Amino acid sequence: MEMRIEIEKLEGGKGCFAHTYQPDELNPLDERVSLAAPASVTGTVRRSGNEVFVNGHLETRAHVECDRCLKPVELPVSTEFALEYVPGADYESSSVAALSEEQMSVSVFDGEAIDVDEIAKEQILLAVPARTLCREDCKGICAECGIDLNTGQCNCSAEEVDPRWAALKGLKNKDTE
Ligand SMILES: [Zn+2]
Ligand SMILES: [Zn+2]
Repeated sequence: MEMRIEIEKLEGGKGCFAHTYQPDELNPLDERVSLAAPASVTGTVRRSGNEVFVNGHLETRAHVECDRCLKPVELPVSTEFALEYVPGADYESSSVAALSEEQMSVSVFDGEAIDVDEIAKEQILLAVPARTLCREDCKGICAECGIDLNTGQCNCSAEEVDPRWAALKGLKNKDTE
């Protein structure tokens, strides 16, 4: 199930990969994000000395929790990535002062294989927006009783109740009497 690219097995230090993950293979991605559809990832791997370069593309649909009402919002995810890996031992031996800003973005791997599962998870999380609303004017949920204020009203706060609505209710009750 786990997809890893063995660096030693790369012919001529190069290779390509393509894989489709079913949602339950990667879910849950974190507390607010899960896959809503299979995720297909394709890319190339190139080795240069001890370094490994991975370029690719990922496409899927994700469920992201609305920030206010916590309902899942389905969003398309389509992202390109360019990653650079160095073996952990090499990374530790290079002094912090010698690390350029570019090198700071380098990822560490065990020197043997690149974990594509990790790449897929990371890229999906990076691609989804930090703030998500099911709709611009989402009313959220009541902090007191937890009711979804988009679909119903509660009486937790007097100010929340529209006086016209209350009056109408009174009229209705009279009509049915
Ligand atoms: Zn919402
Ligand atoms: Zn309430």
